Amino acid sequence: MQKKGHLILSVDPGSIADQLELAAGDRVMKIDGQELEDIFDYQFYLNSESIVMEVLKANGEEWELEIDHNYEDLGINFENGLMSEYRSCRNKCIFCFIDQMPPGMRETLYFKDDDSRLSFLQGNYVTLTNMSEKDVDRIIRFHLSPINISVHTTNPELRCKMLHNRFAGESLKILDRLWEAGTPMNGQVVLCKGINDGDELERTIADLSRYVPCMESLSVVPVGLSKYREGLYPLEPFTKEDAEETIDRIERWQKKLYEAHGTHFVHASDEFYILAGRPVPEESRYDGYIQLENGVGMIRLLAEEVADALESREGDEVCDEISLATGVLAYDYMKKHVEAFNARYPNRRVHLYRIENRFFGEMITVAGLITGQDLKEQLVGKNLGRRLLLPEVMFRSGEEVFLDDMTREELQNALQVPVNIVKSSGYDLIEAFLHAEEGESTYSPYELKEIDYE
Ligand code: SF4
Repeated sequence: MQKKGHLILSVDPGSIADQLELAAGDRVMKIDGQELEDIFDYQFYLNSESIVMEVLKANGEEWELEIDHNYEDLGINFENGLMSEYRSCRNKCIFCFIDQMPPGMRETLYFKDDDSRLSFLQGNYVTLTNMSEKDVDRIIRFHLSPINISVHTTNPELRCKMLHNRFAGESLKILDRLWEAGTPMNGQVVLCKGINDGDELERTIADLSRYVPCMESLSVVPVGLSKYREGLYPLEPFTKEDAEETIDRIERWQKKLYEAHGTHFVHASDEFYILAGRPVPEESRYDGYIQLENGVGMIRLLAEEVADALESREGDEVCDEISLATGVLAYDYMKKHVEAFNARYPNRRVHLYRIENRFFGEMITVAGLITGQDLKEQLVGKNLGRRLLLPEVMFRSGEEVFLDDMTREELQNALQVPVNIVKSSGYDLIEAFLHAEEGESTYSPYELKEIDYE
């Protein structure tokens, strides 16, 4: 047996693989006589009652295991989550945020992935431009879904221009194949002023609405423009009037599609409503918050959850003082939530701070792109009460590190106040206001130490 296959990184204790005495360093060579291309193949074979697995043990022994797993996961973690190389994108989109990042950041932040397998595994949006016929066949054959697609425009020539890829128009045909096969999809449009907005957006929504209900949702989000755009395609920010026009257009389609299909399908992101100075839509218009990760409905959902969390509480007379920081975008809404909280808990003071994004530039207003550096600069010397709460979107997934590599511990030492990470729901927010010291990310003030940033 040649040494290849897929290296096992670890085996979950007590799992089927553990019982079979598989371990880190072993290699899965074949399942049912077939080599595995990637995680899709692996999951496809696991979707069965039993398999025959060929394993090359770390000590060189070759094992053939008949495994009656009955659709259960085996508990194997591979060296590479995809079981193959990550595919980088073949585009050079005129709006790409990665091109607008300053130099000197962590290397992984500059990696441009456009891998359809990540769409299924992590919900990433993909452009379809580097998918082969075989990839599409596998998605259909393995019944993988949903696939999240960055469409941007259905005008083939315009798509080639926006993605700077001459195959970008042609790859739109994959949408037809996925639709014919009944593969659930979600779409996304990054809207660029004077490029794919106005009549072009009208065309895109009209074209994609043919795929409803197979295409379950379409979000329209404004392009993010950082201050690092030198040498890049000239793009302008949207004005209040542009936002109003875009919302009006989208809401006309919502009405039409709801009457025809019972779904609103297309949604303007929260940013458009804030820019237009309009209230965000009512909860029922978000069709179950299908595109929250694209900033569609987050404000409405948070408001509903905060109201619900407060309604079920009596209030108390406890005296307390804490602080919360958020981005410019959510600040006004967060202020209302803090006021509602204070109406119920008058002696518990919450200082709310609005953090401008100096790192990427003032046009970037979302909390998720705020760096530790900006927090430190703008909060130092402020009254933060006995602890500071920060939304978890400010941190790298599952870690206590900001985008600029500053850690939570470094920030709390710089500000001399414990920092708590608050999960994203309104229930978590109210819980954190009331019981900040009981959260997972508490830090004893006695452990605070000075950090030298020079
Ligand atoms: S697909 Fe476009 S926006 Fe996405 S990473 Fe590639 S160049 Fe950037």
